[in-house]
Amino acid sequence: MSFVFPPPAIASVPVLGKNERFAVHRIYCVGRNYEEHAKEMGFTGREPPFFFLKPADAVLPVDAGATGEMPYPSLTKNLHHEIELVVAIGIGGRNISAADAARHIYGYAVGLDMTRRDLQNEMKKQGRPWSIGKGFDLSAPIGPITPLAQAGDIHRAGISLQVNGVDRQRSSVDKLIWNVAETIEHLSAAWELQPGDLIFTGTPEGVAAVERGDLLVGEVDGLTSLRIKIS
Ligand code: MN
Repeated sequence: MSFVFPPPAIASVPVLGKNERFAVHRIYCVGRNYEEHAKEMGFTGREPPFFFLKPADAVLPVDAGATGEMPYPSLTKNLHHEIELVVAIGIGGRNISAADAARHIYGYAVGLDMTRRDLQNEMKKQGRPWSIGKGFDLSAPIGPITPLAQAGDIHRAGISLQVNGVDRQRSSVDKLIWNVAETIEHLSAAWELQPGDLIFTGTPEGVAAVERGDLLVGEVDGLTSLRIKIS
């Protein structure tokens, strides 16, 4: 097959302990999936999970031990951090039950759902899509994927984000409103999941703005931490 111009490079993420990389198919994100974060955004109660997407090439992959550089994006004056546990899908499927979800998971990573909050809020107010607030270039910094067998018991792991050495977000994965398995069940009812899909599972409370020069360190117990400098 030939193309009218060279096809773009495949977006990919490093895998801990392997030379092979994880090729990204899609990036799904869950909205308001921790109660205290839902409250800080002005919502209460358990609602069915809802999803939005980022382009696959919005990933900003960072190797173990490295510090990634994220350029401060255009159009915003309120760039927010959202630390998230990311699920990497290894086996696709549709209508996957929560009980069967684990066998579809390749591994886990630490990710940041970076958000142009001022633009997202304006779109919310107008009932318009969130894409400009959520799906911009390099809006998905992500550390190496830890294969499932090496990741330990992720469901009770602590999750945290420090900015310039100061705690901004600190919670536990067991506070997810919809846990990983339930999220896969809901998501796979709406889309056929494919190997290479990434699921950003939602952020706990404490989201706030970052500035140029800030150093962000995100951690989920049992996974490789993620370091990002805003430039
Ligand atoms: Mn998020």
